[in-house]
Amino acid sequence: MKRPLLFLDVDGPLNPYAAKPERRPDGYTTLRVPLDSGAHQEDSGLSLRRRPLRVWLNPEHGPSLLGLGFELCWATTWMDDANRWIAPVLRLPELPFVDFGEVLLQERPDGVHWKTGPLVDYANGRPFVWVDDEQSELDQAYVTAHHRRSGLLHHVNPRVGLREDDFRTLADFARSLGTPRTTG
Ligand SMILES: [Mg+2]
Repeated sequence: MKRPLLFLDVDGPLNPYAAKPERRPDGYTTLRVPLDSGAHQEDSGLSLRRRPLRVWLNPEHGPSLLGLGFELCWATTWMDDANRWIAPVLRLPELPFVDFGEVLLQERPDGVHWKTGPLVDYANGRPFVWVDDEQSELDQAYVTAHHRRSGLLHHVNPRVGLREDDFRTLADFARSLGTPRTTG
């Protein structure tokens, strides 16, 4: 049986871009991504600045995520650039990613997030959790209507990023699906 999917956003859950800029949170390291790298950027306003994109990442998050029992999958505007820039800092292997293609950053008239439809399509009936800082009730309604298996939308505050209680929630969800943890 395939493991459930964990759709992983970068800016917000992994990179607490909305934290106070003058103080890097404990445990985080700074990655500077040159603007000419071609890396896609979240709608956090950072793309408007004429200096390297600063990303805060916590190297402990990779092993913690890998140990939850999910199949990890990037669900971010970084798309495949997440494998180049983010994965090495987090000690993650190269991961599959959702290719948003034409709908990348395209707002929908019905208010459903532009990621939601592609994620449900990608899951194709597999249970999943979606870790992001931008879901709303409209997205939950969309998932409930279009996805016949468990689909948990787990919201993370972009001021703080992933924390212990988030990992506990994710582990509990994996357990509720009967997924054995792969480590620890
Ligand atoms: Mg985000």
